[in-house]
Amino acid sequence: METILGIDLGTTNSAVSMIRDGKAVVLEEDGQKILPSVVGLDGSGKLLVGFPASNQWTLAPDRTIRSVKRKMGSGETVRLGDQTYTPQEISAIILRTLKERAERLLGQEARKAVITVPAFFNEQQREATREAGELAGLEVVRIINEPTAASLTYNPNPEQLQRLLIYDLGGGTFDVSIVQTEQGVVEVLSSHGDTQLGGDDFDHLLMDFVCDKFREEHKLDLRAALTSRSRVLKAVEQAKCRLSFDAFTTLQEEFIAEQGGVPLHLNMELSRMDYEPLIEPLLNKTLVRVDEALSDAKLTAKQIDRVILVGGASRTPMVHRLLQEQLGQPIHSEVDPDLCVSMGAAIQGGLIAGVDLGPVLVDITPHTLGIQCLSERHGFPSHYHFAPIIERNTALPASRSEVFGTCFDDQEKVLINVFQGEHSDVRQNEAVGGIELEGLANAKRGHEILVRFDLDLDGILTVTATEKMTGLEKKLTIDNVMSRFRSEDREQAKQRLEAVFSGSDAAAAAERQPPTPEPDEDLSPEIKGPIDKARELLAQAERLLDDANQQDAEEMQELIDQLREAVNARAVDDIQDVSAKLDDLVFYLQDAL
Ligand code: AMP
Repeated sequence: METILGIDLGTTNSAVSMIRDGKAVVLEEDGQKILPSVVGLDGSGKLLVGFPASNQWTLAPDRTIRSVKRKMGSGETVRLGDQTYTPQEISAIILRTLKERAERLLGQEARKAVITVPAFFNEQQREATREAGELAGLEVVRIINEPTAASLTYNPNPEQLQRLLIYDLGGGTFDVSIVQTEQGVVEVLSSHGDTQLGGDDFDHLLMDFVCDKFREEHKLDLRAALTSRSRVLKAVEQAKCRLSFDAFTTLQEEFIAEQGGVPLHLNMELSRMDYEPLIEPLLNKTLVRVDEALSDAKLTAKQIDRVILVGGASRTPMVHRLLQEQLGQPIHSEVDPDLCVSMGAAIQGGLIAGVDLGPVLVDITPHTLGIQCLSERHGFPSHYHFAPIIERNTALPASRSEVFGTCFDDQEKVLINVFQGEHSDVRQNEAVGGIELEGLANAKRGHEILVRFDLDLDGILTVTATEKMTGLEKKLTIDNVMSRFRSEDREQAKQRLEAVFSGSDAAAAAERQPPTPEPDEDLSPEIKGPIDKARELLAQAERLLDDANQQDAEEMQELIDQLREAVNARAVDDIQDVSAKLDDLVFYLQDAL
């Protein structure tokens, strides 16, 4: 069967995929799956495409062309050296490079391709893309929308009715589309975006932050000279990517500038906490677009079946967090957000060629992994707060780190208790292990402890706790975190099934059984306080029960039962919530009776 390539011709990066053994595979060369969409000429006039061109951009902008996709179909031309080119010609160079990569790997000619374009591209822009493909020697069998391609990656057999929200945050552009699939048809219901917003803006904000700090210290602006500016920009882009996985990172650029004959080095620590406030206003703008796309499609967030992340900058953890808060559902990024569109284009090619396609298989974490910590919730401290570190559905292998603070001045040790599950209260999740980091330096409360999780493809979790100030470190390896959970899931499912088949609900009842509460004297004051208050309230409510009318008594009995359950489970948050309701009712009844 003839191979049809799937090509994502992106503003910042491009990629090519094909179907192999029923699966979409990205074609990789020299360890690189993406090809920067950059074309240039070196000092001797030799053509450069991809990384070599991208590397020379800041130093030789007159000999380098980036983001030519923005000009497609506009009638504008671009200059490269002493020649003028159409955007189609520059795009054709990128497409030809990808075609040749495919041919080297296939060992035969690759003639046909499906190419993706943004949903907002008009007819002229689509035509220009088709022309670029033909100039590259490709027969463009179809031009498809990028969100359509992304949706195919997650759902290659779009038979059932499904609505997907595709959030695509690339280097220079942002798009959000609502895609509906049904009976093999994929339709873009609405699309919104900002053609001037992306990860490159984040780099500039971070560069300004770093340069301002450096100027305060050395009275020298690194942005003033092209070479130091370009080095800082490159370094912050890499640091930005590291901050997606780690809570802290260090910028280290030797001999970045000179002052009075003395060399200056850039050596600065950056934290996610420094970085996130810089980009928050831009991310809020994208959330407004998300709302607009939903409203144009006449849908609410609840009617969306899946939220999918596309584009390199969507790896930013704050994107996940804000979207999850806004849409109230899990966010999917299991398929590499940089490669998802080209894989979807290959799937479309496979569907055209009549290839039998299986679902896309990626190894992911089935549950969130995190640690127990103290946190204030609804104004009350809770010892059982679950702080996620690796979120559910993260593609494997995965590494993430977060920073935590000690609770007291001069705290000597911290306990790192690892749990997996989705509940914000660790007691509802599965405990998988723990370590103690002892011998901490004398320091004020809030002394920083870094916790790093490395989860490999075999489900082996390595937990590293490090005291940031001294480097004191302790490691723990937990085998088969995922398979353990899965087998327990299976066990529970088996029990439930048996209960159903035997007509008994014993297993379900056992599952609902609240955990045996620990004795009161073992409780910390933060938990004991609310529990004592709740018990007083329960006694007060019970005294009123007999005198209340039937409706009020029923309502109160329900709250009494809920509060007892929360007290038994030591669930401080629930105790606060239910107590507030019961307190209102008691107040009202005392007044009325
Ligand atoms: P794209 O246009 O989809 O290739 O995305 C490119 C943008 O994604 C650039 O701004 C990259 O710096 C950014 N990017 C790539 N990887 C990451 C990451 N791990 N975290 C944050 N941004 C990233």
